[in-house]
Amino acid sequence: MALKVCKFGGTSMADGNVMNRVKRIVESDDDRRLVVVSAPGRRYSDDIKVTDTLYKCYYEVEKTGSCGTTFAIIRNRFTGIVKELGIDLDIKYVLDETERRINEEKSRDFTASRGEYLCARVMAKLLGAKFIDAEEVIFFKENGIFDGEKSYRAVSRAVEGEIRCVLPGFYGCGADGRVKTFSRGGSDISGAIVARAVNATLYENWTDVSGFYACDPRIVSTPKVIKSLSYKELRELSYMGANVLHSESIFPVRKANIPIHIRNTFRPEDDGTLIQPSVYYKPSGRVITGIAGKKDFTVIFIEKSLMNSEIGFIRKVLSVLEEQNIPIEHIPSGIDTMSLVIESARLKNGVLDAVLQGIKQAVEPDVIRVTEDIALIATVGHGMSSSVGTSARLFKAMAQANINVKMIDQGSSELNIIVGVKNDECEKCINAIYREFFN
Ligand code: ASP
Repeated sequence: MALKVCKFGGTSMADGNVMNRVKRIVESDDDRRLVVVSAPGRRYSDDIKVTDTLYKCYYEVEKTGSCGTTFAIIRNRFTGIVKELGIDLDIKYVLDETERRINEEKSRDFTASRGEYLCARVMAKLLGAKFIDAEEVIFFKENGIFDGEKSYRAVSRAVEGEIRCVLPGFYGCGADGRVKTFSRGGSDISGAIVARAVNATLYENWTDVSGFYACDPRIVSTPKVIKSLSYKELRELSYMGANVLHSESIFPVRKANIPIHIRNTFRPEDDGTLIQPSVYYKPSGRVITGIAGKKDFTVIFIEKSLMNSEIGFIRKVLSVLEEQNIPIEHIPSGIDTMSLVIESARLKNGVLDAVLQGIKQAVEPDVIRVTEDIALIATVGHGMSSSVGTSARLFKAMAQANINVKMIDQGSSELNIIVGVKNDECEKCINAIYREFFN
């Protein structure tokens, strides 16, 4: 029998009207048996997310010992939602308890987690489903890392025999027994954990967009929605800044080969995007799946005659960066040249000078040169490995748009081509590549 885990994001929980929409979605499919919710998000563009208000509650507790003033906003919001839904839940009691615990616990994570907690309580009542507190089934280890084994066991035990359950996302229980949250947007991770725990057939992630776009809609107006992509493509695109899903949320489900379906709560009739494990992945027939770009990189170019025959050259250069604790994004190289592409933010406050100094001492290069304000643009797709001329088309499109290529790196998996251009040519470059492959 199919078993679907559905995670609904903040905008899908924004008010009673949308929650009723969610109820219809869940109830329209008997396989949708596990529901994971975020805290209510924005109702309009300058609205404040419940989680952000809760962080303010925590600062108020820290300062004054009580969160009363700010908690009134949370109280209002949930009282309004329950009234709008007309459900039989003693929300005053639940809110009083929550406020009391926030004041008592004096914990940032506990306070922040209450948006999901309250929302799941409401949603469980609305769906007539069992509420399972994440505090009792999702665990972290001593070192703060998520404890998979313990959590998967606890989740599967808690849902056993239940027709439908609702769980709050974003938090679990730390090794000290206190509530601990994932990083922001972490309900996506909770959804993936629940899916993995019950070995779901599908992890549905309901948001307010109709899927993953082939590129950023702020750069290209109305780009195509990617109907399906592989986990590997998703990883490449999310890493380069395409953010529909929390980047860590794929790990639990990927291991168990569970597909993720991104759907739009406000347009449930849309196909959305299906993210497939590599074993099931069927090529879309497209050469390119998507394009993503990220700005503000620094390139350190190093040249030394006979570099290629100097044993240990690259190791010596890399150990300078290791000593400074700096991750490297790419290392394009030639016979006597190599470049290091590094996020500029990592090189602030004198770090760049220290790195240059270290490299000079370590390998005595003939030339060392720095280029700042570089954007990296990744063109991603399994299709490119089997189609001749992809890079020729890409570079022709860039040349026609008069964009100077500062760096090229083709991933060894033939899954991506990464180009470096000047920051201020990033948008123009994404547009040119998109037009070439998608129009
Ligand atoms: N409510 C949390 C946040 O705003 C977690 C989530 O929405 O996934 O980050």
